[in-house]
Formats: sequence, C-alpha cells, structure tokens
Amino acid sequence: MTARILDGNSISAQIKAELKTETAELCRQGLRPGLAAVLVGENPASQVYVRSKVRTCEQLGFFSEMLTPPASTSTEELLAIVAELNRRDDIDGILVQLPLPRQIDSKRILMAVDPAKDVDGFHPVNIGLLSSMRPGLVPCTPAGCMEILSRSGIEVAGKDAVVVGRSDIVGKPVAMLLTNANATVTICHSKTRDLVGVCRRADILIAAIGRPAMITPEMVNPDCTVIDVGINRIDSRELFQSLFAGDARREKEFSEKGTTLVGDVHPKVAEVCRAITPVPGGVGPMTIAMLMANTLKAAKMRRALTDHQLVG
Ligand code: NDP
Repeated sequence: MTARILDGNSISAQIKAELKTETAELCRQGLRPGLAAVLVGENPASQVYVRSKVRTCEQLGFFSEMLTPPASTSTEELLAIVAELNRRDDIDGILVQLPLPRQIDSKRILMAVDPAKDVDGFHPVNIGLLSSMRPGLVPCTPAGCMEILSRSGIEVAGKDAVVVGRSDIVGKPVAMLLTNANATVTICHSKTRDLVGVCRRADILIAAIGRPAMITPEMVNPDCTVIDVGINRIDSRELFQSLFAGDARREKEFSEKGTTLVGDVHPKVAEVCRAITPVPGGVGPMTIAMLMANTLKAAKMRRALTDHQLVG
C-alpha cells in the first residue's frame, strides 16, 4: 500500500490564489492589506524566510515593508520600532522574525506587538482567543495543518488525534485547533510512556518534534492520516542511506548539495498509512500561505469588516 500524498504546494497555491482575488476586491474598496516584517541582524536563514514572505506579499497585491535594524539593536530600540508599527494605520500585520539576537528580550518584544496585528498568532491574547474559540489570529503552522486536513476532505470530528510535541508554536496550538474541531486529542512529549502504543491508536497523527524520522512504521496504523510538521536538514551520509537508499531523486540531491530535508516521520511510513504530507512540500508551504491569510484577516478585523460587508 502507498499512502495518498497530501500536497501542501498545491493547497497553498490554491489558498494564495483565493487571497489574491479577495485582495484585489479589497483594494478596489480602498483597503490594501499591509505587512511589516522586522529582521534584526543578518542571519542568512532568516533573510531567506523574510524575503520569501515579502515576495509573497507582492504577488498577492499586499503592501509590504521590510525593516532591517542591525544585530546590535537593544530591546528598547526594538520596542520603539514595534510601537511605531502598532501605531501606523497602513500596517495590518507585524512579523518579528525569530530568533532574535541574544541581547534582546524576545518575550517582551512578542508581548509588545498589538494582538490585532499579531499575524504569527503568538501573543497570549490570541492564544487565549483560540483556547476559548473566539475569533482571533491563529498561529500559522498549526492553521496550515488544519487547512491541509479540511481541504483534503479528511474528517476530524470524532476522530482520535495524537499530537507529538507540545511547543507553544506548533504542538499546543494544533492540539487546541483539533479539540475545537471536535477531535479527541492526546498530546505526547519527551516524558510520554508508551509513545508507540499511543501513536498507533491515532486516526490523525501530527508530528512536531524536531527529530529526523522519529515516527517509524510500527507507530502508525493503516488507517492513519499523518501530518509531518518536522523540517530537519541532514548531512550524514550514513543517516541518508538508512532513510533514502534507492530513492534516485534524493540520491541526486544529496550528492549535489551534501544535504537533504527530512521530516519527523520516517519515509517508510508512507508505505503503511492512509495519507501523509511529504517533506518538503507538505506543511512547510502552508505556513506562509496562512501568514498571508492572517494578514488579510487582520486587515478586515481591524476595520470590523465581515465577509458579508465586503461582498459587492
Ligand atoms: P520544539 O523543540 O519547541 O518542541 C519539540 C517537542 O517535541 C517538545 O514538546 C518535546 O517534548 C517533543 N519531543 C522531543 N523529543 C521527543 C521524544 N523523543 N519523544 C516525544 N516527544 C519528544 O520544536 P517546534 O515545535 O518548534 O518544532 C517541531 C518541528 O517542526 C521542528 O522540526 C521544526 O523545524 C518544525 N517546524 C516546522 C514549521 C513549518 O513551517 N513546517 C514551523 C515550525 C516548526 P518536551 O516538551 O518534553 O521537551
């Protein structure tokens, strides 16, 4: 048996196309959603992420602005930048790219972002709204997991969902979203006893661990839908061989670049489960699509516009 592949690239393209259409309509009504991305210092990986977010804004017709204060920026200086973005009416979403340099108090910065502009959904106000099922801005990667399920026609209500990982960014919020969608949810972590047994009971298994290929075939039942959030870059030839031996496309990539990406789920799980997201090309592309969706939502919510009011 080979699992159905849940293609995050095509789902995210579909979402972005919908957002582009809606943005054009909003712009005609005089409202252009705006995102400010703050990138402190010169972390190359962060530069790639932020540039791609800004580029996506341009593709969708959003206003976007990239602020690049130096690596030596203090907490107070960054708080002043955030305060100014909170104040500006042309900015609907504020994204402060993590990780921040060590001298900066990240928690104070994230707390300072106006919850109405917190498009990452990390502010405790938004987490509280999510927990109490009220409208707010939902963290992007967890929201992306739910979109993959719903747009793939995978029923969540009444199902047993197991989330491996309890981080504030992925595990906890995705568990809340699944609970809100009427799944029966178990959250696992590094102290869980009998991880294999718990995972085997899952109809829906979400892996957000940060450990390459940790979820192995014996942990998954044949009816399970597996959402692999993990993104791990591996460069060990031995590990590569154990995971991808015989995969010509991966072999070519690894010999050219010396690295490849692997999820938290072992590639062989695709041979034993019902449906699975690939890595790359699964949850990854959804995160940026949901960031854009949040920016549009923030733009509408700040002006108290409902979808109904926006039509026609
Ligand atoms: P964290 O390191 O913050 O959390 C990892 C979680 O996994 C912790 O709760 C930890 O448990 C649990 N864990 C670690 N080892 C084990 C184990 N042996 N058994 C059971 N549970 C274990 O990671 P994140 O949530 O930030 O990220 C998880 C993965 O998702 C990473 O690979 C990351 O790169 C990826 N990611 C992908 C995104 C995307 O866009 N697709 C976005 C964000 C993250 P404990 O709490 O007990 O320590």
